[in-house]
Amino acid sequence: MSECIGACLACEGRCCSVYIVPLTGFDVWRIVQAQRLAPELFIQREPEDYPTPAGFLLRPGGPTFAIALRHQYDRRNERPCIFLLQLREGIQRCGIYAHRPLACQTYPMQLQLAGVVPRADMLCPTGSWMGIGERPDEWRERLVQQDSEWERYALVVQAWNTAVRTRPADAGYVLDQYLAYLVAAYDTLNALTNQPLATPLDATFAALANAWTKID
Ligand code: SF4
Ligand code: SF4
Repeated sequence: MSECIGACLACEGRCCSVYIVPLTGFDVWRIVQAQRLAPELFIQREPEDYPTPAGFLLRPGGPTFAIALRHQYDRRNERPCIFLLQLREGIQRCGIYAHRPLACQTYPMQLQLAGVVPRADMLCPTGSWMGIGERPDEWRERLVQQDSEWERYALVVQAWNTAVRTRPADAGYVLDQYLAYLVAAYDTLNALTNQPLATPLDATFAALANAWTKID
């Protein structure tokens, strides 16, 4: 659910009922801070088909995982996002709209050479987003921020995976421990500059090493 105006008001929140919403650590940290929720209440792990820079290990040499928003119960063969509020039949709203993940904030747009364009496979009703040309800079800013956050998250994951690989072969961690590390890591990054995207790289790794002490 990108904007609670125009297209989204006329839609039934299709994107919020169909997709698995991927999260960066910064998304997690923002929601934890804003909603005062433990991350394990709204996050699930997703096995990766192949390792990506943001795929985290739970044991040395093990498979990699991503994190995503949890779903509610199955409803009419759909699995609504855990934060999707059903106000009455056909009327739904995001319960964390101001703090929704960047994936939600940028959907259904993407950056291409031609500029900001809707995804060809978007679920939005035909004719939605005809007004994209009015606010391209705002969309571009969000999409660029999203790319930067995925790069920063890959560094955070890299620090975690490096530490996991140094553990004994039979050592294992659970998702809750990874999430505790994530929150501690972004807490520290935020305290360094109060602006996570601007943190220097060496300070980033020092902070991430420190974040490990929260779970060891
Ligand atoms: S599918 Fe498109 S129009 Fe519908 S809620 Fe999501 S972003 Fe809005
Ligand atoms: S966080 Fe909000 S906008 Fe994103 S999928 Fe969930 S209900 Fe939809």
